[in-house]
Amino acid sequence: MLAHRISLLSGPGTAAAREAVAAAAATGRQIIDLAAGEVIIEPPSSVREGAISAIKAGTSRYTESIGLAPLRKAISEKLSKETGIHWNTEDIVVTAGAKQGLLDAALSVLDPGDEVIIIRPYWPTLPSQVLLAGAKPVFVDARPPTYIPDIDAIRAAVVPHTKAIVINSPNNPTGAVYDRATLQAIGDLAINYQMWIVSDECYSSLVFTGTRHESILTAHPGVRSRTILVNAFSKELAITGWRLGYFAAPREIISAAKKLQSHTTSNANVIAQHAILHHLQVGDGSFEREMHQRLSVARSAGLRILSGLHDVATPGAGGSFFFYLDLSRLISILPAGCPIRSTDDIAGLLLAEAGVASVAGGTFGDVNGLRLSFGTPPDLLERGLKRVVETLNSLKKRQAAA
Ligand code: PLP
Repeated sequence: MLAHRISLLSGPGTAAAREAVAAAAATGRQIIDLAAGEVIIEPPSSVREGAISAIKAGTSRYTESIGLAPLRKAISEKLSKETGIHWNTEDIVVTAGAKQGLLDAALSVLDPGDEVIIIRPYWPTLPSQVLLAGAKPVFVDARPPTYIPDIDAIRAAVVPHTKAIVINSPNNPTGAVYDRATLQAIGDLAINYQMWIVSDECYSSLVFTGTRHESILTAHPGVRSRTILVNAFSKELAITGWRLGYFAAPREIISAAKKLQSHTTSNANVIAQHAILHHLQVGDGSFEREMHQRLSVARSAGLRILSGLHDVATPGAGGSFFFYLDLSRLISILPAGCPIRSTDDIAGLLLAEAGVASVAGGTFGDVNGLRLSFGTPPDLLERGLKRVVETLNSLKKRQAAA
């Protein structure tokens, strides 16, 4: 019999869509994958060269559990530039992706009985990790069209046992980019109610609305002693499988992570650490600029296609690389007796009939949403989105006639 904690974890989420795409491909059917949480692009040559050099040099040993000191130094310098706040090597922990940083944060600050505020729609690992730590996720809905959480709603969710709030801007799945006033108000709440802030900023390099990403620490430097800022190279450098992330936090959290990582993974993969260090030393930012430009073009082209949707508002997609559709109106006007009743049904129909993989909002705790990635190569994206628009626009007519 398995431990109780396993029953607390949500299903495979977006991995389920990946499996459906692989299963269809195995039968020779080509599916356009708009479900993936990664940008399909070759990683920077500097990362690859860094890895090859490390392998050729025979690099093979454990590193310090929180990562190589030169890498932590390089990350502290990068983060200092990006946030306008000074960070030292000792403020940084290198992790196996943002996921490990978030788990370190949860395991470091949460006890059974604690509550953690999570903004919904959420990336599904966030509540699962809170549950793993024995605590209770409490959800505050961020509503369309902006998906920016309402501060009064957050305040209303705070109870004496509330230990932390998790925010994620730019957001997966909604693409929302929190404005400075919202970040400051969340910071004030955290101070007033003595909460930790876990700020997942792993899409920080991908903002498309003219502004740059702003960390809650830049918006409200007063929260530094209670904030764990989590980030990763996974999305920024399109190297999700390399598993390299980091967080910056107060020293007590760094000490906790040293113990946690030493007893769990020992250290992030040493070759990946050298590869990223090399990139940070020699990269001139051209890969990051080109990727941003490519995604920006893909976003504009995609929004043009999606503006052809009837009964579905064009999404904001301010940051990350997701179009998040609110299908509540479309579903509400489908005729009674229509077999399509939910976003799960719609995602199933898109896969079966249009050959397009998407992620239904239930994965993110939202029955109304549908997530489509624009990290897919441009020709596939265009074909996929056109099929989505055609299928969704045909729903009312087709079902009424059925
Ligand atoms: N946080 C969010 C919001 C994500 O969307 C993801 C990955 O999809 C992660 C964290 C995990 O990132 P990593 O692959 O670096 O562990």
